[in-house]
Amino acid sequence: MVLMTGEEYIKSLKRRKKLEVYAFGEEIDDPVEHPLLRPSLYSIVETYEIAHDEKYKDLATAKSHLIGEIINRFTHIHQSVDDLVKKVKLLRVLCQRTGTCVQRCVGWDALNALYITTYEIDAKHGTNYHERFKNYLKYVQQNDLMCAGAMTDVKGDRSLRPYEQKDPDLYVRIVERRDDGIVVRGAKAHTTGAVHSHEIIVLPTRAMTENDRDYAVAFAIPTDTEGVKMIVGRQMGDRRRLEEEWFDLGNYKYGATGHETLTIFDDVFVPWDRVFMCGEVEFAGMVVETFSSYHRQNYGGCKAGMGDVLIGASALAALYNGVPNAPHIREKLVEMVHMNETLYACALACSYEGYKTPSGAYRPEPLLANVCKLNVTRFPYEIARLSHDIAGGLVATMPSEKDLRNEKLGKYIVKYLQANAKYPTEHRMRVFRLIENMTMSTGYLIESLHGAGSPQTQRIMISRLANFKEKMKMAARLVGVPFEE
Ligand code: SF4
Ligand code: FE
Repeated sequence: MVLMTGEEYIKSLKRRKKLEVYAFGEEIDDPVEHPLLRPSLYSIVETYEIAHDEKYKDLATAKSHLIGEIINRFTHIHQSVDDLVKKVKLLRVLCQRTGTCVQRCVGWDALNALYITTYEIDAKHGTNYHERFKNYLKYVQQNDLMCAGAMTDVKGDRSLRPYEQKDPDLYVRIVERRDDGIVVRGAKAHTTGAVHSHEIIVLPTRAMTENDRDYAVAFAIPTDTEGVKMIVGRQMGDRRRLEEEWFDLGNYKYGATGHETLTIFDDVFVPWDRVFMCGEVEFAGMVVETFSSYHRQNYGGCKAGMGDVLIGASALAALYNGVPNAPHIREKLVEMVHMNETLYACALACSYEGYKTPSGAYRPEPLLANVCKLNVTRFPYEIARLSHDIAGGLVATMPSEKDLRNEKLGKYIVKYLQANAKYPTEHRMRVFRLIENMTMSTGYLIESLHGAGSPQTQRIMISRLANFKEKMKMAARLVGVPFEE
C-alpha cells in the first residue's frame, strides 16, 4: 500500500480503534463521519489523490531512499535541493485546489527534523536513535500514513522554564522510565489534523537546560493509543457545517481551515522503538530549529496557494459588482499579486539555498526561511484587507443562504442583491461567502501569524542569523575606518 488513494485513506482511518475525541463538550463517536470535521478530512484526502494525478505526479511523489519505492512525497526525506523546491510547489498547488490548509505538512516536517537530529544525537552519544527512527520511517512510508506533528506545549507561565513551572505537566514530560519504554504526561496545543491522522509525532517545543531532562523527549504513537484525548478547537462559523444549507460555508467542500486539537497525553505508554529523544537536552533546541526552518519554508507555498484563491475571489467579486476594469480595482489586484508572489519567492529562495546535513537529508536555508515566514505574518493580512476593500461590505452583512431559499424572502434577495445583470445574485453571494470565510477564520490569517511560530520567534532567529558584524565591517571598510566593537 505504498500510494493510497483518498478513499483508501478514509477506509484506513476507520480501521483505527475508537479515538477519544471531544467537541462542544461531547465525545464524538465517529470523527471520520462527523460533519464538523468533514471539510478537514477532504482537504487531507487531496494529499493522497494528487499522488495519482498524472499532471502532478512528479511533485506529489518521490523515490524513497530507504525502501526504494515510489512514495507519497508527504512521507519523503528531502534528498536534494530539487526535493525542497518541489515541496513548495506541491503545497502551492494543493492549497490552490483546496483553498485551505492540507494539514499533512507538520508531520512531514517532524519526520525530516527527526531524521537529521537523531543522526546528530547518535554521533555525540553513541545511541541508536537514528536506526530506530529509520525503521519507524520505513513503516510510515510503506503504509502511506498521515502523521500529525505535535510540538507546541501549553507552556504555562511564559517566563518560566519547563522545570520551573508550578504544575510540572505544562510541558510534555517523561513521568516513568521502564524496561519496555516510557510513560509521558502533558498536553500539546493546536495540533493540526490530529483527529484524521494515523500517527502523532511529538517533539519538544523549545531549547532545554540540564534541569529540563524529563522534558527533552521526542516520540511517535498511533492516534488510537490509550490515554490520548483530543479536544477539537472551536472555529468561527463551525456551526454552519452542521446546517443543511452549505454555501454559507464559503469553501463548502474543504472548509475555511483544517482542524486543531488540544491533545492530552494522560500517562501514555511509548515503547522504546518509538522513542527518538529521551533526555538529550542539548538537542531539543536543534530539533525545534530544524523543524521550524522546514515549516517556515512551507508557508510561502501554502499561503501563496490560498492567496491565489483569495485574489481570484476578489477579482470575481469585482466582476459581479460590475467594476472589473476600474483602475483602482486593477491596482489593488496587482498589489495583492505582488505580495503573494513575494511569499512564494521567499519560499523558493530558501529552498534553492538549501543544503545537505550530515545525515544526508537536505534542509532549507534558515535565514531566508525565517524571512519568508515573517513576511507571511504580514502580507496575508494586507491581501485580506484589499479583498474586503474590493468586494464591499456585503461580505459582512449579507443574509444567509436559508433566507435566499426562503419562499417569501428569496425573491427580494435575488432582486436587491443583484449587481452586474449578467451574473446571478447567488453567484455573487457565494463568492462573498468564500471571501468572508477565508478572511475571518483561522486558516488563512491566524495561521499565517502564529503557525510555524509567532512573529517574535522569527525575529529572534533573524537577529541570530543576520551576521550584523559582517555588515558593520563592510560599511567600516568603505568609509576607511577600522572596525571595533
Ligand atoms: Fe501545511 Fe500550510 Fe497547513 Fe502548515 S499551514 S500544515 S504548511 S498547508
Ligand atoms: Fe501550520
